[in-house]
Amino acid sequence: LSVILILLLMLVFALDAVAETLNLRRFEKGIPAEFTGLYDPAKYRKARAYHTDSVRLALLKQGFLLLLLIAAIETGAFNGIDLWVRSQGFGPIWTGLVFLGLISLIRTVFLLPFNIYDTFVIEAKYGFNRTTLKTYIGDLIKGTVLSIVLGAPILALVLYFFERAGELAWVYSWLSLTLIQLVLLYLAPAVILPMFNKFSPLPSGELREEIERYARSRNFELSGIFTMDGSKRSSKANAFFTGFGKFRKLVLFDTMIPKHTVRELVAVVAHEVGHFKLKHIPKGIVISVITSGLTFYVFSKFLNNPTIFGIFKMESTSIYASLMFISIVASPIFRLLSIPTNWLSRRHEFDADRFSRETYGDTEALASALKGLSVDHLALLTPHPLKVLLDYSHPPVLERIQALRSGDAP
Ligand SMILES: [Zn+2]
Repeated sequence: LSVILILLLMLVFALDAVAETLNLRRFEKGIPAEFTGLYDPAKYRKARAYHTDSVRLALLKQGFLLLLLIAAIETGAFNGIDLWVRSQGFGPIWTGLVFLGLISLIRTVFLLPFNIYDTFVIEAKYGFNRTTLKTYIGDLIKGTVLSIVLGAPILALVLYFFERAGELAWVYSWLSLTLIQLVLLYLAPAVILPMFNKFSPLPSGELREEIERYARSRNFELSGIFTMDGSKRSSKANAFFTGFGKFRKLVLFDTMIPKHTVRELVAVVAHEVGHFKLKHIPKGIVISVITSGLTFYVFSKFLNNPTIFGIFKMESTSIYASLMFISIVASPIFRLLSIPTNWLSRRHEFDADRFSRETYGDTEALASALKGLSVDHLALLTPHPLKVLLDYSHPPVLERIQALRSGDAP
């Protein structure tokens, strides 16, 4: 059975490798007519080299993780770690926290060289990286502290329910996790985001006036318009909303403003307002709540399953190890779940584009903003349909522009 699991995981890896390879080949299609004058041959070659480097590293990292997992299964390393943690004599919940914490620490340490290479070699080589070593280390520390402070109590709660609450443990876990997620959704903009970035109010001027005028025309309340020091990490640009209702804030990356006209920026803001007005966020929350409910239910059915523990060569069963092993066994299913969720996300992007077109009425400003962002990010303009199906949360830029101009999405 462990052979079947390994083959299945290799199959998923092969699927990703095939999708990436087919995708890279699409660079041979050349620069689409829509982008003549924006993408010169030298820049296009640079984009191709950037994608090739990034994909190679990503596949190397994924392949390495898979090998590490196979080695751990074959050598019985999970059992070794489990025996050691158990011998420390903690209670069942602390034992679980230490076991899962150790494994996640090992994983992080092994992945660190790949992530460092990505930021300081690949992203730097193509002129995107602005992260200093100091920022990088700061992020790493803050990220780790945050995942311990938030993750450990949540994990402890779930372990507690499954240790004590019997049949309905999955319901308690599901409800409390949902509650915590909702609270975090409110807290994140006020507490977590400022830990990583600085926000300053957008100075008054034409851009601010235009955004405010647009928001008023749509009865869209805004508690503030901010710029964020995205340039601290990368030259890549973005815009988004944080918070809810009256606490809603618009955030523009500082890297975005100088590269676009006021009309382009307002058309992008109108797209973001579209996500709100079309209720894409609550829809996303409902889907994630349903998914987490199903996940906990399935988890409860396979808890301490002797077959699964046999695959990982474990001597004794436990809830904490079930948590990890079930998620490994189910990972091919989760990989495939990205197909419908990405599909929905792409529909939402088309809908938000249409909202911008219908409410701000400047199709060409949005098209031109999308083109500018694609060129700046060295995006592949003609991705392969298989890659789009598996991984694209946003539609390919040419499809978006076409849908914008014709008024209906494909
Ligand atoms: Zn969007």
